[in-house]
Amino acid sequence: MLARHAAEKKGSMGKAIGIDLGTTNSCAAIVENGKPRVITYKGGASTIPSVFAINEKGERLVGQDAKRQAQLNPTNTVAAAKRLIGRNFHSKTIEKIRQVFTYELVEGESSEVLIKVRDQVFTLEQISAAILRKIKEVAEEALGCEVDQAVITVPAYFNDRQRQAVRTAGKLASLKVLRVLNEPTAAALAYGLGRNLNQRIAVYDLGGGTFDISIIDIKGRIFEVVATGGDTFLGGVDFDDRVMQWVLETFLKNTGVDLSFDRVAVQRIRDAAEAAKIELSGAMRTRIHIPYIATGDSGPLEIDIELTRERLEDLTMDLVDRTIANVDRILKEAGSAKAQIDEVLLVGGQSRMPLVQRKVTDFMGRPPSKGVHPDEAVGIGASIMAHSLAGASAAEEVTLLDVLPMPIGINKVDGSMHVLFPKNQPLPDYKTRTLTTSKDNQRSIMLRIYQGEAQLCADNELLGTFVFSGIRPAPKGKVQIEVTFHIDSEGILNLTARDKGTGQTVESTLKLGKSGGVEVVGGSSVPTGGKKEDEPTPPVAPPLALTMPTTGLASQISGMGEPPSLEPASVTPLDVGLEEIKPESLEPEPPLEKVASEQNVIQFPAKDGKPVEVKPAEVKPPEVKPADAKQAVVVPAPGLWRRFVTWWKGLFGGK
Ligand code: AMP
Repeated sequence: MLARHAAEKKGSMGKAIGIDLGTTNSCAAIVENGKPRVITYKGGASTIPSVFAINEKGERLVGQDAKRQAQLNPTNTVAAAKRLIGRNFHSKTIEKIRQVFTYELVEGESSEVLIKVRDQVFTLEQISAAILRKIKEVAEEALGCEVDQAVITVPAYFNDRQRQAVRTAGKLASLKVLRVLNEPTAAALAYGLGRNLNQRIAVYDLGGGTFDISIIDIKGRIFEVVATGGDTFLGGVDFDDRVMQWVLETFLKNTGVDLSFDRVAVQRIRDAAEAAKIELSGAMRTRIHIPYIATGDSGPLEIDIELTRERLEDLTMDLVDRTIANVDRILKEAGSAKAQIDEVLLVGGQSRMPLVQRKVTDFMGRPPSKGVHPDEAVGIGASIMAHSLAGASAAEEVTLLDVLPMPIGINKVDGSMHVLFPKNQPLPDYKTRTLTTSKDNQRSIMLRIYQGEAQLCADNELLGTFVFSGIRPAPKGKVQIEVTFHIDSEGILNLTARDKGTGQTVESTLKLGKSGGVEVVGGSSVPTGGKKEDEPTPPVAPPLALTMPTTGLASQISGMGEPPSLEPASVTPLDVGLEEIKPESLEPEPPLEKVASEQNVIQFPAKDGKPVEVKPAEVKPPEVKPADAKQAVVVPAPGLWRRFVTWWKGLFGGK
């Protein structure tokens, strides 16, 4: 971490801000004179609606301008796009979204979701980049100087692809992304920094589109996540949907008119539903009044109904219960009793709902802390981290130790997932596996990598398909390819491979989805579409889910001190023989597209029809003495490295 922080601090003149890139609203903050503050915009607003649109003149609108015209231009106004990031077009989630979203979703080359606005097709990274660019602009205007670096927050429960997408969006917006930071961790920073705490806290984060729960230990300037979980498809928008459905049904019952196919009407009802929901956080009853919503036999029709808090709570009770079930699960995963939680932080706009506050209080047996602002805590925390990475003095720096939100693994022959990194794995971490050829002169090996909590790979997110090619011809089993999987402190996976016999790096290629829109060869990503970054038309490059520098592991983890020794203690003793790619993979090699096809996935070989059991790598604790820690070769063993760092910092301070 030391080296990385130092490198990140060099060579940039602009300011670094923290950005909470929310589903409904985004917020930016900055640390000035040692104090974090939210950046306010013209008119005093502290948040920008995360909305993008193109109007009838072809002008691109972002933020308040886009939100203002949403009702008149619903099909060309993109809101809540964060919900779509990193998702497969054919997933159930997207099917559901397509029924309620007013704008058009189209399928990308790699089954990713694209958005069509006025005949132009955008990637989700491009939409997020437009919002980030707007935040950058307004921040520059408010601060009177250039802003070129940012820490951007993401839900803790985002997977690798989703995190990569946010990184890509930052880059497209001309921002150097110092770090992708988990939202609950950011909130914990805002709450705990500078208070010299020694506490275990629970951060309950219910925003516009996502829910996160994290258990975090705070010891002075060290913030260590113990367990995290959540639901990337549960947030304020779902509460709005419930009210909207109720209004549509009530209107149909009263008038016989079904408005659910009228996109303009649906957008107006959605806005009114959200406003009523917010109103009911303070009042016990409110009116939903929308004039001229449709035309009936006897003239114009309006919606004019009363919504009580009680009814709202009935409509949304199960959503809140889902969050509480998640809290219960994560407490168990953290091995923590409720009584061990010193404080409960509520963040995210939807946590203002009285029902949420009541249920959390009942479940936890204590009222939530009043120590953070639910809308601003995440942005503030991000700015503290940005300051720490970009310009803080050693005394101001903070240490974050995070965990992996979902397991990462590879496919076994029975379709189940062999977990390489379990959920809540302390980060960073790495594992090695040795693959062998199972055919004479086999030239390529393929590996599919998944992330998710389901037992079957098919039910998890395919992060990418790796093809290791150019393997030297040899009898079967004679070539051993050692693959190192490294997850960095942001939860992003990197892969490297080398021939154990020759020590040479093996060329690896990443393929995503059906046709592989992105190729990674030699450590650089090449969008095959060849389009300019913010050009909207397809073909578009999907997010690069995994990265593979060919310069070896050392370059990837330089920020953690010296490269780990891969011989022999840290290397798994296990050889995993993989099936051949296909007979044609003998000379000449097939084109990669062919190799990477669905049918040729390499799996663990079956012995007597049974899949081979894969044992975890044997990893030794870091052999480091406090006195010579700086010179030592450090092996980042699972958990132990992190515990060592925590212990070291506890004793001696610093990063
Ligand atoms: P965030 O992503 O944290 O900005 O949260 C935005 C969500 O919070 C939206 O769904 C809002 O409708 C919701 N929200 C904001 N204020 C309130 C409130 N007072 N009561 C209930 N929900 C709210």
